Amino acid sequence: MKSRFAPSPTGYLHIGGARTALFAWLWAKKEQGQFILRIEDTDRERSTQASVDAILDGMKWLGLDHDEGPYYQTDRFDRYKTVVQQLLEEDKAYYCECSQERLQVLRDELMEKGEKAKYDGHCQHKNLTAGVVRFRNPSEGNVIFSDLVKGEISVHNKELDDLIIARSDGTPTYNLTVVVDDHDMDVNCVIRGDDHINNTPRQINLYEALGWGLPDFAHLPMILGGDGARLSKRHGAVSVMAYRDAGFLPEALLNYLVRLGWSHGDQEVFSIDEMIDLFDLKDVNKAPGSFNQDKLIWLNQEYIKSADIDHLVDQLDWHLNDQSIDISNGPDITNVIDALRERSKTLVEMAQSMKMFYQDFDQFDEKSAKKQFKPAAEPIIKALIDHYSKLEDWSSAAIHDVVKTVCDEQSVGFGKVGQPFRLALSGTGNAGSIDIVAELVGKDRTLARLQMALDYIAQIDN
Ligand code: GLU
Repeated sequence: MKSRFAPSPTGYLHIGGARTALFAWLWAKKEQGQFILRIEDTDRERSTQASVDAILDGMKWLGLDHDEGPYYQTDRFDRYKTVVQQLLEEDKAYYCECSQERLQVLRDELMEKGEKAKYDGHCQHKNLTAGVVRFRNPSEGNVIFSDLVKGEISVHNKELDDLIIARSDGTPTYNLTVVVDDHDMDVNCVIRGDDHINNTPRQINLYEALGWGLPDFAHLPMILGGDGARLSKRHGAVSVMAYRDAGFLPEALLNYLVRLGWSHGDQEVFSIDEMIDLFDLKDVNKAPGSFNQDKLIWLNQEYIKSADIDHLVDQLDWHLNDQSIDISNGPDITNVIDALRERSKTLVEMAQSMKMFYQDFDQFDEKSAKKQFKPAAEPIIKALIDHYSKLEDWSSAAIHDVVKTVCDEQSVGFGKVGQPFRLALSGTGNAGSIDIVAELVGKDRTLARLQMALDYIAQIDN
């Protein structure tokens, strides 16, 4: 069993491509087969090295490793030429020199008559020796195949053009290269987006003309944006790496992608092993899936809560760099992650919240400060400073006891102490359990920040 992912490097790896790659990868894993990565870069004008890199980066980040490749079609031009030559020699293909103008006139005429725009076979019997090469498509009968997702599909050969398989400069076209590659690379299950389903009958005719056995085909339904239109840039970040940048974990994105067009009962959370175990092309939906950002965020949160700590440390690395957070001077990052993981929707948020543990700030969030640092808070903060400067055992339990003592001494409820304390510690008011945060922030920094809160109050007093 061999499947493949065959992207054209004309842009980054987008969500639709990643979903196709995931399904092909899962199928190979499930069948204990091989997964090939093939870069379809024959369109030299639109293919770029930057896109190749973006695809490789995206696949790597998602952990969709390949057993073979990456193969590059531009390395295989000689092979394609040989196949085109063979088809010409066997009269299964012919040269055509129809001009663009002639083809345009033909198209317009057919369209006007309400017919399908299709090549009329003008050069079929001219025995030309130059021009584009067209495949002699059978004119009778149907092409019938059983798609593993869509079921039986039948197309009459009358519907199919004499397809161009090589341009006049000799370079091969997609439908030829894909057939040659899938055959040569022993791919026996072609899994791809259903935007290619119209190509499949043409490709089947090519396989047959070449006397090659057919692979299975599975065409995946497209992905729609929330508004029902095909998912595109308009719907926000669609590049896989943009999700990394926005703070998603790769396994959360994979889990999200696997549910776009596939389901197993009403289960929502799947580990990679479970996906491999349960995935079946038979269960892929025929109807398009709709992208739902809220669900992705929910999954991400679930994964952040339960992920292995070392994995989170690895995944956070990029974000710490991105937000210029140096963790060498401060608490152990694993303790900080544990303090924050219950309340972080994304790694971007988590990294933002990490700043309070590693960076001092010189300003409080203005709106929160106006609310929390009123003159009434002054004796409370003074009392906290007083107790904490004497506290030897800088543990969350002892820190918590002090908060309780101050509540009693000042005859106020917990909120009156906790809220200004939280703002003093975090600068933003956004922090989890204050005793744990204070323990991790450390005694000196805690005292300095409480003093800064006092200074703030003194300055509004005047
Ligand atoms: N290179 C094609 C694309 O990016 C995919 C070809 C295929 O999967 O057959 O759309």
